[in-house]
Amino acid sequence: MTTLVDYPDVVARYEPTLGLEVHVELSTNTKMFCGCPTEFGAEPNTQVCPTCLGLPGSLPVVNRTAVESAIRIGLALNCSIAPWGRFARKNYFYPDMPKNFQTSQYDEPICVDGYMDVVLDDGAVVRVEIERAHMEEDTGKSLHVGGATGRIHGADYSLLDYNRAGVPLIEIVTRMIPDTGGRAPEVARAYVTQLRDLIKSLGVSDVRMDQGSMRCDVNLSLSPVGSGVLGTRSETKNVNSLRSVERAVRYEMSRQAGVLDGGGSVVQETRHFEEQSGTTRAGRIKETSEDYRYFPEPDLVPIAPSAEWVEELRATLPEKPWERRARIQESWGISDEELRDLVNAGALDLIEATVAAGAPAGEARSWWVAYLAQQANTQGVELDRLAITPAQVARVIELVAAGELNNKLARQVVDGVLAGEGEPDEVVEKRGLAVVSDDGPLIAAVDEALAAQPDVAEKIRSGKVQAAGAIVGAVMKATRGQADAKRVRELIVERCS
Ligand SMILES: [Zn+2]
Repeated sequence: MTTLVDYPDVVARYEPTLGLEVHVELSTNTKMFCGCPTEFGAEPNTQVCPTCLGLPGSLPVVNRTAVESAIRIGLALNCSIAPWGRFARKNYFYPDMPKNFQTSQYDEPICVDGYMDVVLDDGAVVRVEIERAHMEEDTGKSLHVGGATGRIHGADYSLLDYNRAGVPLIEIVTRMIPDTGGRAPEVARAYVTQLRDLIKSLGVSDVRMDQGSMRCDVNLSLSPVGSGVLGTRSETKNVNSLRSVERAVRYEMSRQAGVLDGGGSVVQETRHFEEQSGTTRAGRIKETSEDYRYFPEPDLVPIAPSAEWVEELRATLPEKPWERRARIQESWGISDEELRDLVNAGALDLIEATVAAGAPAGEARSWWVAYLAQQANTQGVELDRLAITPAQVARVIELVAAGELNNKLARQVVDGVLAGEGEPDEVVEKRGLAVVSDDGPLIAAVDEALAAQPDVAEKIRSGKVQAAGAIVGAVMKATRGQADAKRVRELIVERCS
C-alpha cells in the first residue's frame, strides 16, 4: 500500500536531493561502431550487420562524427575533455542486446566536470553541475505481444528489433543537486528543457522525447530537514516528456515521504514512471557497478582527441539558445509571455529565419503564429514540417508590401506553395493571383457597382464617403478579391465627384 504525503507537508519536513541522467541519441548517419544507417521508423531488423548483431569475428570501429558530437556537447556544458580514454564493456544479458555487453565508457568518460546555469520561470538561477558525459551505444527494442499492458508480464511472445542496437548515445550525468527544496520538480524540468534546447542548437540530435531520442532518468532521495544525512535514492527510468520529469520528481517526493513517515526505509531500486497515472512502480533492485564486470574493450583503440581538435570544435559552438532568445526578444521588442508562446509553438527559429530572409519581424510573426499555425494544426503536423520555407514566406510578405498581393491573395499563394505548386512567384503566375491595379478593368467594375446600387452612389455623391465601403465590397467580389482595395476606394471617390 503506497501512502502519499501532501506536497507542502513533504517540503516542510524533508529536503530532496535530485540527480538527473539524460540519454541523448545522436543523429549521426551511421551507428556508433559500424556503418549501419540509423534512420528512425525503418522496417524492423533492416538496419543491422554482423557488428551490431554481435556475431563472432566482427570488429567495431568508432564513429568519428559521434566523438565530435560528444566533444561539442561536453564543451557546451563547460566540461573538460579527457585527452585519452578507453571504451569499456558493461556485461549483462538482455535479449535486446545481442553482444551480451554494452560498449560504453566507464571510468574514462570523454567529458567531465561541467555545469549549466538553469534559469527558472521567475528568473532564479540554479547551477547544475555535470559530473560526466560519456559515449555508449543504444540497445535494440523488445516488443511484447499479447498482454494487456505491453509489458513482458502476461505477453504471449516477444519480438526483437535490432535497428536501434548500436545507435550512438551520449549519457549526461549531473552531480547531486542539493537545496532545491520545494522547487525540485521545477528545477528538474527546467534542466531537461534547457539541455534539450542546448543539444538541439548544436545540431547533433533531434532530441525528440516522444520518439525516445532523449530520455531522462530521475534520481531522488529525501533527508529530514536539517539532518544533513543523504537519504537512499530511487532511480525512475525513461521518463519521456518534460512534464513527466516534473511529475516524476513530485510523485517520488510524496511517495518516499510516506515510506519514511511510516518508519520504513526507501529501497534503492529502479522504478518505472506510469504516464497515465503520474505514479511510479518498483522495477528491479539496483545493480552496483561490480555486477557489470566492466573491463576495457580490447577491440577498440583508445580515444585521444588532440587539444587542437578540441579547440577547432569549440569554435563551432553556436550562441547558447537562451542567450539567443534574450537577444531576439530585445530586438523584436516582445514580452516574456509572447516569447514563451513563440518558443512553445516552435515558431521562433522559423520567424528568425524569415526575418533573416528580409521580412519585417511583425509580419513574419503574424504569418507563422496565425495562418501557418492554423494550417499546421489542420494537417496535424509540427509548424516546421509544413511544406513552406521561411524564405518563401518572406517572399510572400515582400509581394504584399509591394502591393502586388493583398492579404487574401497572399493566403492563396501560401496555400499553393503548401500544395507543392512551386515558389510564390510561380503560384502567382499559375493561379493568376496578382492584384489588379490596372485602372481600366477597375474603373469598369466600379461603374458597374455604382450603377447597381444607385442609392449608395447618391450618398457618396452627397459627401458620405464612408458609404463607399459597400461599393468596394462589390468590386472586390466582382474581381474575385484581386483588386487593390486602396485604389478601388480612390476610383470610387473620383467617379462620384
Ligand atoms: Zn551494424
